[in-house]
Amino acid sequence: MQELQALLETLGLDALYVTRPENVRYLSGFPHPEDAQVLLTGEGAFLLTDPRYPEAERESGIPAKVLRREEREALLKDLRGRVGFEAEHLPYAALERLREMAPVEWVPTKGVIERLRLRKTPEEVERIRKAQALAEKALEHALGLLRPGVEEREVALEVEFFLRKGGAEGVAFPPIVASGVRGALPHARASEKRLVAGEMVTLDLGAKVAGYHSDMTRTFALGKASSEMRRVYEAVQAALEVALENLRPGRTGKEVDALAREALGRHGLDRHFVHSLGHGVGLSVHEGPSLSPYAEEVLEPGMVVTVEPGVYLPGVGGVRVEELVLLTEDGIELLSRFPRGYLEV
Ligand code: ZN
Ligand code: ZN
Repeated sequence: MQELQALLETLGLDALYVTRPENVRYLSGFPHPEDAQVLLTGEGAFLLTDPRYPEAERESGIPAKVLRREEREALLKDLRGRVGFEAEHLPYAALERLREMAPVEWVPTKGVIERLRLRKTPEEVERIRKAQALAEKALEHALGLLRPGVEEREVALEVEFFLRKGGAEGVAFPPIVASGVRGALPHARASEKRLVAGEMVTLDLGAKVAGYHSDMTRTFALGKASSEMRRVYEAVQAALEVALENLRPGRTGKEVDALAREALGRHGLDRHFVHSLGHGVGLSVHEGPSLSPYAEEVLEPGMVVTVEPGVYLPGVGGVRVEELVLLTEDGIELLSRFPRGYLEV
């Protein structure tokens, strides 16, 4: 808490009004952050919510105020000085209402709480581990369903059902099942397309457990794949290995991204790697730090990131393999344990 107060001082603010659900959950642990805010002042952090959550005091790790509309207005009216708001999250209309309620100086801020979230505590890592372990069981279940004639969306639905049944709060994102030519779309939604023998099938899935996400991708061959796609797989695998070998604190995301791109370049495939190498994972499935050509920030122990090289050949198909990784003091620990070698199912 002292850390948060020091933060206000650094920012030159008297208070910070936190509305982004992931940030509200981070600061309070409250499991319904979409319907709550955190007000950070010189006196401490308070969770603000409404009478739909009478148990807020028990469910929140910080003092909670369950307020009716008039009570909330009165509380905001008492604010003084410079009050920060999350410019990347608060809608303009909501800011207008706040300005009417509390005629203080509302100051736009960016990424304040997100920066605190970059390095995970052991408890946070534990939640991500749990989400990942469950997702791996779901992937194993899905593998048993892959056969010619099955629709992509049937597989995706099974994954979703498996995760929910296994205790997940939800899916981290709608599972991606992309087969054959659809594998060339990096973010293909599972469709009505049926799997065909000889195709590659990409499955990208994650679970959400206690607010925290996991994220992992595997690409399998349904029977015998073409030699072209096998070569693509090997190139992606090589890029992944180079990235994992070189990922450690002190490096920048940009450096590791470049190494993966170079590895694909040796196979003439770098121009088909159309997205970043990776992203942070935590209370959001996509958060900082980024592993991309633009990521200048230095990686630190405690960060959790994906490493996900992919090659997408329009009209032909695609391969992506994605690992989930914890940065440790001197290297990395793989949080995803599912085998990543070429596999024909
Ligand atoms: Zn993914
Ligand atoms: Zn990812």
